[in-house]
Amino acid sequence: MNILFVAAELAPHAKVGGLADVMAALPQALAKAGHGVSLVVPLHRGLRRSGEFRQTEREIEVPGVGEGRRARIWEGERGGVSLFALERDDYFDRAQLYGEGGVDYPDSLERFSFLARGAVELARYVEPTPEIIQVNDWHVGLVPAYVKALGLPIRTVCTVHNLGYQGEFPAEDFRRVGLPEGVFRPEGVEFYGKMNFLKGAIAIADAVTTVSPSYAREIQAEERGHGLHEVLREHGGKLNGILNGIDMVEWNPATDGALKKNFKVGSMAGRVECRAALEKEMGIEPANGRPIFGMVTRLTREKGVDLVWAGAEELARRGGRLVVLGAGDPALEEEGKRLAQLHPKRVAVRLGYDEGLARRIFAGADFFLMPSRSEPCGLTQMYAMRYGAIPVVGNVGGLRDTVEEWDGKTKKGTGFLFVPTAEGLTGGLDRALAIWDEPAMMKAARRNGMSKDWSWGAAVPSYEKVYRSLTS
Ligand code: ADP
Repeated sequence: MNILFVAAELAPHAKVGGLADVMAALPQALAKAGHGVSLVVPLHRGLRRSGEFRQTEREIEVPGVGEGRRARIWEGERGGVSLFALERDDYFDRAQLYGEGGVDYPDSLERFSFLARGAVELARYVEPTPEIIQVNDWHVGLVPAYVKALGLPIRTVCTVHNLGYQGEFPAEDFRRVGLPEGVFRPEGVEFYGKMNFLKGAIAIADAVTTVSPSYAREIQAEERGHGLHEVLREHGGKLNGILNGIDMVEWNPATDGALKKNFKVGSMAGRVECRAALEKEMGIEPANGRPIFGMVTRLTREKGVDLVWAGAEELARRGGRLVVLGAGDPALEEEGKRLAQLHPKRVAVRLGYDEGLARRIFAGADFFLMPSRSEPCGLTQMYAMRYGAIPVVGNVGGLRDTVEEWDGKTKKGTGFLFVPTAEGLTGGLDRALAIWDEPAMMKAARRNGMSKDWSWGAAVPSYEKVYRSLTS
């Protein structure tokens, strides 16, 4: 099968969250299984500088969207996947992918409708012609509408990596995206009088997938449906939850060059050094006999960061250490800074994006905190387990599908799950602090997590099934 992926992110050089990691791994896993796979992304500054793409002579016309409607094509190749990037420096040669200082760039509509329309235009030239276009998240949510409007013989799959971001714009903007009038209606991109990119993709795509079975269920109910639960229920027959994997080669503590020492199950001395190095790097007092809790996250309410801030003093009082790496909501950043200043020996907060440090936190922390209120899949809990940090997580979405509650009797399980509220978090921390006092149990829980196989190969047959249902 020939599949074209379209997305706004690609790890490691154009990454904000898990979407980038998935785009760097799932297409390759499908290519490895024998499919013809390509991927279109914008030529973000980081991708241009990466050297992975080369400029070609080819330019495409992108009708109906934005000014000066041409895009130069850049090409590359990675792990059997043909990479394409659309060069439009006025849109994509920017310091960040989506915005700065917690505010989106004001021309998101133009940037991403241009990307979506450009990708569809490119699909006409990609050899061999794709049978499927897989669109990822709201940024490229107009792709199914363009494909249908042009009458192209291509089926579309909309993959929801996060329902919380939908791309909503005023109705007046509809005339700027170059779609026929009839698409602005409840069966199309219209949602309660506004244009909603993601809703349009869900309604129009031939199939919808999301990144874990639990999330697929949860988003059909009001509590976690972000307003789209009824739309999702209506289209429930074409909705599938397929659990993400991780790149087990890219994320491997036995070979990771960002770590002070490497380690693996059965040879864990290196991890002790990573732990000590982390204390030093973060500038906290050596934890000695007390546990280090780590976090690597976008700083948002959805991730439950406010719950951690509220519980940080108590955690510090009980002797725990907290090391956090994150960026995002300015108010949460401020509060994090304040807590770190208040408890400099026990709480350290690094604001910003730093992949090396992220890896060193996975490798050096004893526990990994992720009290998400909603979690489509979550990759960091898998990285944490792979690197030996025991996850303490909200019992939602993909966290439920990847973390198994530790059971001291059977010695089965990989972490701790709790209801993502202040009391729930306290309960989760209690259980973590209790197991900390039982080194044999810690060792067993850690080993269970490190021994898990999160390869993408497991997801491939599920995606193939979706594609087959559309093409046969
Ligand atoms: P989401 O996509 O909702 O942000 P995921 O857990 O699926 O959450 O993926 C987050 C990805 O982004 C992981 O690869 C994680 O390591 C990375 N990440 C998040 N914040 C940072 C940061 N501040 N520095 C480095 N990496 C980060």
